[in-house]
Amino acid sequence: MLSVAEALERILARVLVLDRESVPLDGALGRVLAEPVVAAREVPPWDNSSMDGYAVRAADTRSAGAGRPVRLRVVGEVAAGTVASRELGPGQAYRILTGAPLPRGSDAVVPQEDVRRDDHHVALEKAVEPGAYVRPHGEDIRSGDRLLEPGLVLRPAALGVLAALGRARVDVYRRPTVAVLSTGDELVAPEAPLGPGQIPDSNTYTLCGLVAEAGGVPVSLGIAPDRREQIIERLRQGLQANVIVSSAGVSVGDRDLVRDAAEALGARLDFWRVNMRPGKPLTFGRVASEGGERLFFGLPGNPVSSMVTFELFVRPALRRMGGHRVPERPRVTARALAPIDNPGSRPGYLRVRLEPTPGGLGAQPTGEQGSGILRSMLLADGLAVLPGDTKVPAGGEVEVILLLSDEALSAQR
Ligand code: AMP
Ligand code: MG
Repeated sequence: MLSVAEALERILARVLVLDRESVPLDGALGRVLAEPVVAAREVPPWDNSSMDGYAVRAADTRSAGAGRPVRLRVVGEVAAGTVASRELGPGQAYRILTGAPLPRGSDAVVPQEDVRRDDHHVALEKAVEPGAYVRPHGEDIRSGDRLLEPGLVLRPAALGVLAALGRARVDVYRRPTVAVLSTGDELVAPEAPLGPGQIPDSNTYTLCGLVAEAGGVPVSLGIAPDRREQIIERLRQGLQANVIVSSAGVSVGDRDLVRDAAEALGARLDFWRVNMRPGKPLTFGRVASEGGERLFFGLPGNPVSSMVTFELFVRPALRRMGGHRVPERPRVTARALAPIDNPGSRPGYLRVRLEPTPGGLGAQPTGEQGSGILRSMLLADGLAVLPGDTKVPAGGEVEVILLLSDEALSAQR
């Protein structure tokens, strides 16, 4: 049976990065940069004051000392957003406020706390160095600096840098659209009263949420009953999207019709089982459509299985499509805070909560680990990866896939 790593490799080999589009800065938060950003100007654009005080010529202050004040004549005032109307001459000072450009002729600022002011003069008892309290032009960014690389997730600081460079728009990768279909005769919408044998459809909500968290745009196709024709019809609607994700109906029961329906729609299936727990039945294939090739993922129906298989396979595919440099979640090593058990021969992906401990990160299993126990995901910060037939004792090391929001982490890599 295909291993998780082999299955992911096959999937990623089929994924193409989507086109780019231009978006306004105020809509760019969280989007993935698609262009290198090279500074076309300096930040700040001119020398300016970092304090409220007086702009001076440092040379004029050289003889100042305790009891030997230097007196300078105040010849004007300059605030942020204005420019000094005249050049500073010898023996002169300019009242200056934070952020204002330095008047021509001046080369330092004396903070107002360090002077005595009377009507038209300031007196200071300490010499200042050239450049004191001056923020030189280009100290933050120099023209030609290469600042941001494609694949970066745009976070607030990056948006600020783009704005400072005078950019109102930025090129980002398109977000993959993802059609999400739940299948099963037992499923009803959450608000519907439950008839005999019925359960609320929760996978639509977990999967649409995971799509959005992966940077995709989810479109729900609703619930299809276990009827081949109806499943085909819904999947056909899904061909509008870049990716179709269905849940349930992919194992070997009489009512497991999804694989068949996908093939009837023209899907070429690449594989339908992966060696893992939870989530062995898992179908991946491609469908040719007018809008281009679509990816199809038939996930298992159990609530935990569908989420875990999404994490391991669909999320990396969506992130690759969306231009992320690192499609996979980061992994950390942690110490088991209680025994973690993976009975059975398949590699296990067990839900754990991570806690800081004096010796590093600790991993606490989130209770009952059945594939129907959605609460195990509710509490999880990560998936502990265990080989088959393994029991990690308390204190033992485990590898954990981080499920925490990783934009910040991955953006750094
Ligand atoms: P299946 O793969 O169709 O055999 O489904 C496996 C299990 O997952 C069954 O217990 C289903 O009732 C359950 N299940 C399937 N789809 C959903 C869904 N959308 N929401 C909640 N549970 C589901
Ligand atoms: Mg079913």
